[in-house]
Amino acid sequence: MEDERLGLPSASQMEIIANCPGSVAMLKLSNLPPEESSPEADRGTKIHAARETGLTLELTEDELADYNRGISRETLLLAQWMQDREIPEGITETHLEERLWLHWPETLQPACSARLDVHYVAEGHVLIVDWKAWRSPPSNKSWQLRVTAACAYREYDAKTVRVAFCKYAAFRDGKDYTDLTQKDLRRLEGGIFGAIKRSEMPDAQRNAGDWCFFCRARGFCPEGIAFTQLPEIKRPDPAEAVKFMPLPDVAAVYRKRYIVDRIFEAIRERFDGLTDEQLKEIGLKRTMGRKLDSVTDTTGARAFLQSQGFFADEIDACTSFGKEALINLIRAQKDLPKEEAERWLDRELDSFITRGRAKPSIVEIER
Ligand code: SF4
Repeated sequence: MEDERLGLPSASQMEIIANCPGSVAMLKLSNLPPEESSPEADRGTKIHAARETGLTLELTEDELADYNRGISRETLLLAQWMQDREIPEGITETHLEERLWLHWPETLQPACSARLDVHYVAEGHVLIVDWKAWRSPPSNKSWQLRVTAACAYREYDAKTVRVAFCKYAAFRDGKDYTDLTQKDLRRLEGGIFGAIKRSEMPDAQRNAGDWCFFCRARGFCPEGIAFTQLPEIKRPDPAEAVKFMPLPDVAAVYRKRYIVDRIFEAIRERFDGLTDEQLKEIGLKRTMGRKLDSVTDTTGARAFLQSQGFFADEIDACTSFGKEALINLIRAQKDLPKEEAERWLDRELDSFITRGRAKPSIVEIER
């Protein structure tokens, strides 16, 4: 497939390139296969596609909730920008998923590009809204936003550019923006050109840092491995982390539990399809499954135990009825629908039932 970035750095790669110029050479040497998609990336792609087309039919309920949150945050960002720039209603141009370029000043050849999720242009001012799930550096420190801002500055000869993150899955701090004047933008541009030039030098330095977690070389780069294994970088004990997390964040994670479950189910399925050798290569092995034996011939077992001198009431104390099986029996014997069979069991066997309840569930409040 044709590379629309022409093999040049893009805004999304700039976070790593600017912080670790040596990453470019490291990745060129590595001959990595194309990056595999992930459930989280697929989800982001679907939500971005919905923003571009306005079609939300493909979204699940959970994705639609994120999408709607993103739309309302973008609407607030737009209203705030129009008010701050004194832009009258109805003159704003909206652009979706456009790729803009930054060119070397000496040769006018392309230097890098940025694909902007959404940007608005009016009276020489530009607002760039970048849709993110939740994780990103602050907008005033983001290299990705710097590149998008510099590209838009040159494309529109902009008087000002506002770059904003619209974090659709974040429950707090969902809007974060930074204003840039022409002076700021020219300085930014110089910084971007400098970062690209540094990354092209044969002995470009590798610097490890938080960006290593997003670098595809982190599995084999010595600096990346050393950094990500540092004890202070290792993730804390989950139970401790949950204890100190702000409650809205705990709720946000709780709402994602089905995705997490699905991820583990998919991992399990993939492991089931691997041979023992393949598992060994990644440091895993298959063990015998937990025993699930149960005494199904209870009549025979009861007779045998009695023949061995066990008392009938002691044997009965070890026996319990499966509720589902009992309901099925009542349905068949009395020719009742399921709900009525359940009610019959509840009423008629009341004196034989020890009542109890599972722990309460935590669910969304209906609004
Ligand atoms: S893993 Fe870290 S140090 Fe290594 S190349 Fe990538 S960003 Fe640089």
